[in-house]
Amino acid sequence: MVWNIEFQFAGLILTAVIAIMIQGQKRLNYQAENAYIRLLVAVMASTLLDILSVIVINYRDSLTEFVVQLSCELYLFSIAFVAFVAACYIIVELKHNSIVTVKSILLAPLVVLIFVLIFNDTSVLFDYSTKELYTFGVTVNTTYGVCFLYLIFMLSMCFYLRKQINKKKRNVFLFWICAWIFTAAVQLLNKQILLISFSMAVACIYMYSRLENPEYLVETNVNVFNRKGFRTLTEEALRLRGKLSLYALSIDNFDSLNENLGNKNNNKLVTDICDFLSEHDKYNVFRLEDDLFCLIFNKDEALSSSIDRTINRMKKPWNVAGIDVKIEYSITYLEDINTFIDVDSLEEAIHYFSTDARKTGVSPFRIDEEQLEKRKRKIEIQKVLEKAIENQAVEMYYQPIYNIKAGRFSSMEALVRIKDDMGKMFMPGEFIEFAEKNGMIIKLGEIIFRKVCAFIKTNDIEKYGIDYIEVNLSAVQCMQEDLARLFMDIMGEYRIAPYMINLEITETASINAQNIISKNMSLLKQYGASFSLDDYGSGYSNLTYILGMPLKIIKIDRSITEEYFKSEKAKIATEYTIEMIHKLGLEIVVEGVETEEQYALFKKLGVEYIQGYYFSKPIPEDKVLEFIREWM
Ligand code: C2E
Ligand code: MG
Ligand code: MG
Repeated sequence: MVWNIEFQFAGLILTAVIAIMIQGQKRLNYQAENAYIRLLVAVMASTLLDILSVIVINYRDSLTEFVVQLSCELYLFSIAFVAFVAACYIIVELKHNSIVTVKSILLAPLVVLIFVLIFNDTSVLFDYSTKELYTFGVTVNTTYGVCFLYLIFMLSMCFYLRKQINKKKRNVFLFWICAWIFTAAVQLLNKQILLISFSMAVACIYMYSRLENPEYLVETNVNVFNRKGFRTLTEEALRLRGKLSLYALSIDNFDSLNENLGNKNNNKLVTDICDFLSEHDKYNVFRLEDDLFCLIFNKDEALSSSIDRTINRMKKPWNVAGIDVKIEYSITYLEDINTFIDVDSLEEAIHYFSTDARKTGVSPFRIDEEQLEKRKRKIEIQKVLEKAIENQAVEMYYQPIYNIKAGRFSSMEALVRIKDDMGKMFMPGEFIEFAEKNGMIIKLGEIIFRKVCAFIKTNDIEKYGIDYIEVNLSAVQCMQEDLARLFMDIMGEYRIAPYMINLEITETASINAQNIISKNMSLLKQYGASFSLDDYGSGYSNLTYILGMPLKIIKIDRSITEEYFKSEKAKIATEYTIEMIHKLGLEIVVEGVETEEQYALFKKLGVEYIQGYYFSKPIPEDKVLEFIREWM
């Protein structure tokens, strides 16, 4: 008797050890992991059949020919089956619709093999003459052929998916393929060494240690999945169009808790939170950042009940080391992750909307198409803005301001626009606030001011009756300590007479940065520039802030102009306001005058200047003087 089954036993033990380890580990249950487990089971089954066939062959004299044939055929089939399952494991990396097609094609060689096994009587033969224990014949050759086909397929997949799958995964697959080829070659040369099962087991161990150890995806100290787990699961779901919903729980006071409770107690708190979140097994819990958790659901019904449950729990304090602490949190949720094209944008959106929810206090916040569209637009604007600033490619429009007494246009307001590469124009309403928030307004403001100065320098605007240009200043610019210095330098550089510049400030600026703005204003006023208060009547209209400021003009907001005709109260308020401003010795520009009726009214009320579509919309800088000339 020849009992060459040591390698098979060793292989069986190795695979059994992996199976036991996986059994005891927290698993994410995603397709690639399941495909690996199927492969592991197939290898174990094949190894068992290998051992069984050796036993049967050794006892062939006391067994029927049918039993001997059957056990050998089952073993042969199992080798091809392992190759099939391995090929299926690699195609998990494909897109959903191609997986189904490729899988059905992959079944074909296996079906052929089944036919050969069934219809070929002399499928397995033993070489009694040499006393060597091995099988050969049509079935054996077909099995090798089928395995070879699968190996070729896997190799092509490694090449085809080289960009899609990471290097580590590709190397693992290549190792698997090499292990097969190597053992097949050894077995061909020395028919007594039955190495295939053993090498499959070794390949399984290698795969486990490099790729498939579920522990890689777990944050072990709190026993929830980590960011890698999140990315693995969502990447696969997005590729396979799996419908997953999720919500992110952000602990807004994480840093202060950490500071107040100490690191150890804070860790205990995080563990308690994770335990609470993991109480149900209908979903997976992930920790994306120290203070950001995410729960992923297969069905979205569980989503809303879980959000309610979390909100209810968060209402109550958490007891850590005898101290009751209150968690400040925000929740953002997404009903279908397929709204995103890849994991990066999904992850980025979760971070973005979590931060946003934290700032705005809107929680739970639903991430939907509309929100994503808004954000997309913001990102688009940010890019255009960055580029415009980098290339100094902002465009200035000028809106003529009519001087009633003089009967001509005597000033213009400079209004900024930016364009993307395709020529699409973005209005200031879309980007000024954003530029203020991220500080870009400082650079943008400087570019605008330079453009205005360049415009004044190259065009003899006084020839057109234009005494000065009004330039908008953002509240953020006003808080800039060296604003006056910078603007005076620029005016000097372009050799612009300072009286040709009128700077428009808003109430917000005067409220927020009283000291700095007063200093800047008085410096610029001394230098010769003048100031207007923009949008008067749209905010608090608190005159105490502006009484002490060196203003020349008050610009009455468009909303007042519109309101005047709508109510008696607005009429009275507007008339008193105009009277009061005049009594303070200031001039008035009325903004947003669109009709003859409005114009006639404000003329009657004695305001000095009219700005609005009634006379003209803002005009590009190369056309505006032509427009003014036509009016002269
Ligand atoms: P603003 O300073 O009050 O400028 C007047 C805005 O009202 C302009 O909008 C102008 O096109 C619009 N407008 C003028 N007349 C009429 C009218 O009769 N009817 C209507 N419906 N609208 C009229 P624009 O150019 O979109 O600017 C919006 C705001 O963006 C400005 O309000 C200003 O606060 C800001 N902005 C514009 N350019 C600049 C700039 O260069 N720097 C800064 N910091 N802010 C700017
Ligand atoms: Mg303005
Ligand atoms: Mg205004």
